[in-house]
Amino acid sequence: MRRKVRSHIVQDEPLLFELSTPGKRGCQLPRLDVPAVDPAAALGEGSVREGIEGFPEVSEVEVVRHFTRLSTWNYAIDLGMYPLGSCTMKYNPRANEEAARTEGLLWAHPYQPEEQVQGCLEIMARLEQALAEITGMDAVCLQPAAGAHGELTGILLIRALLESKGNPRRKILIPDSAHGTNPATAAIAGYEVENIRSNARGMIDLEAFPSLVNEDVAALMITNPNTLGVFEVNIARIAEILHSKGALLYMDGANMNALVGWTRPGEAGVDVLHLNLHKTFSTPHGGGGPGSGPVAVKKELEPFLPVPRLKQVDGQWRWDYDRPQSIGRVRAFYGNFGVLVRALAYIMACGAEGLRAATVDAVLNANYVRKALEPYYELPHKEPSMHECVFSDRRQARHGVRTMDIAKRLIDYGFHPYTVAFPLIVPGAMMIEPTESESLRELELFVEAMIAIAREAEENPELVRAAPHSTRTSRVDEAAAARKPVLRWRPES
Ligand SMILES: *Cc1c(COP(=O)(O)O)cnc(C)c1O
Repeated sequence: MRRKVRSHIVQDEPLLFELSTPGKRGCQLPRLDVPAVDPAAALGEGSVREGIEGFPEVSEVEVVRHFTRLSTWNYAIDLGMYPLGSCTMKYNPRANEEAARTEGLLWAHPYQPEEQVQGCLEIMARLEQALAEITGMDAVCLQPAAGAHGELTGILLIRALLESKGNPRRKILIPDSAHGTNPATAAIAGYEVENIRSNARGMIDLEAFPSLVNEDVAALMITNPNTLGVFEVNIARIAEILHSKGALLYMDGANMNALVGWTRPGEAGVDVLHLNLHKTFSTPHGGGGPGSGPVAVKKELEPFLPVPRLKQVDGQWRWDYDRPQSIGRVRAFYGNFGVLVRALAYIMACGAEGLRAATVDAVLNANYVRKALEPYYELPHKEPSMHECVFSDRRQARHGVRTMDIAKRLIDYGFHPYTVAFPLIVPGAMMIEPTESESLRELELFVEAMIAIAREAEENPELVRAAPHSTRTSRVDEAAAARKPVLRWRPES
């Protein structure tokens, strides 16, 4: 058993402001060979400023080293695994980045005439078709910029459909195993949220469910697989019950990494679903960069999709704005185009067999971690795991070591922490999603680190409680950082 703590590079790097020496320059401009102009005369008095108080004056090499050193404090997917559950933080093949940087795609402008951007429109049309096929749905809208945005679009579509039938209804049912964005979405769309308790298997209780669905219920929002990593096996029956009462089934498809190529939500009776292209379909995420949350719907909801819609006229792609029942736009232009290119490149590079294989590997990796850690950590739900597994810190808590401490200690072992204390229905949750992109070797290192930490929790709990030890700063006051952020350096401070 290797118990090696991977070392981090920790330089004693000051703030850029503290590196400043008056008069230093990062670049040299050639001597002026034209007559000098008075800036105030040329630009107007109000456009000229004296200088910036406290502006750092540093040389080129100081700037380069400063930011390069800072970058070594960052953890990145190019450095190691991100076991964050419910996030699908996977390594994305570089080839898809290349595709997104193809010159004609990179520089296309959303206001270019349609006949000049037929290739871009074709990419979007093909992606819509591919996602419809993968999900078993009838139509796809690529506009929403993220998962939560897709949810909002989806629930507004449900509202519009029910309204067209005379009554938008009042309530949305949401299981306690759903992602936190689901109740937020329902509330923003003007619905009351009714929470449904999961049964001991981490699923909806089919005995109790029918009595919850009445004339007030617009839809059930279900995350499948849910945040316990458990697949809702009764989804088709649940859809039937909802439909028999005139309600709809919304599926949060952010966890499609566990399903692609093996099961199609549309065939299980799902009416609306969103995907997270920045999770399942090859756009890096976690840095706050562009995302994409396409919404897929059944035929009945298609007339309400956001405008414009792509349509083919005489072999040419056109934008169709003439859709009187549409809920309108949900975003400027047509979605985050670069993300769409990556997704189509990924789907086409994998092909049907490749996508199925990725799903199998994602599920296999999660179950490998689960089996390997079961002797050391409490597993509250015994259902088979899909793309992620959820442990609780119950055994370690007896020594005063909680999920946050274990997560912090993982940093010393060179791993990004797993998802801490979520889902809420598991006290002291430790939610782990390795994804398909991790090798057996990397999984073994992770498992060894987790086992070593379990031992430390028994033999030396103080060590774990004070982790991380290998970073420049250890525990920060997160509440104070959020409530009183210091965003600006002041010379006097
Ligand atoms: C990530 C996630 C979301 C939200 O997606 P964003 O792109 O972060 O808005 C919703 N549901 C589930 C299950 C998720 O994992």
